[in-house]
Amino acid sequence: PLPVVAIVGRPNVGKSTLVNRIIGRREAVVEDTPGVTRDRVSYDANWAGRGFTLVDTGGWDPDAVGFAALVAAQAEIAISLADAVLFVVDATVGITDSDEAVVRVLRKSGKPVVLAANKVDDQRVEAEAMNLWSLGIGEPFPISAMHGRGTGDMLDAVLAAL
Ligand code: GDP
Ligand code: MG
Repeated sequence: PLPVVAIVGRPNVGKSTLVNRIIGRREAVVEDTPGVTRDRVSYDANWAGRGFTLVDTGGWDPDAVGFAALVAAQAEIAISLADAVLFVVDATVGITDSDEAVVRVLRKSGKPVVLAANKVDDQRVEAEAMNLWSLGIGEPFPISAMHGRGTGDMLDAVLAAL
């Protein structure tokens, strides 16, 4: 079986956009309204000649009471099934309670993690991305899932983590 890479992060950070970027097709549903991933969640992916299975997560209600805990619970399921985790944060928003809740789950899991600082559409947002070092889980890879910026280096790191 192919190794499994789970994409986790709170709603609206760009997980489904990143899935589409990686697989090169618009199959994951991208929503402007947070929390609406209800489509198929597993995708065959390939980078530098290596195949892997990408698992997208989401589909919970951002207005729910205890939202950060819900995000963490969803992430926990995906992480437990994964060989490596691609943790996506919105660099333009910065670190939220939900992001920190996911980090706690990641630490507990001991799974290898690559940190993607998304929505770095141009050079001006790079500094924001570097703030994510403070999450304490390693190097943030500045990417733009929308435009493809930086995703090659990020995927190299994902493969190195497998
Ligand atoms: P998800 O909830 O984490 O799956 O996020 P989506 O992929 O559905 O994206 C949420 C919103 O962020 C959509 O409006 C996307 O178009 C937007 N988005 C995703 N990636 C980027 C990016 O790299 N740059 C910008 N500017 N917007 C993005
Ligand atoms: Mg989604």
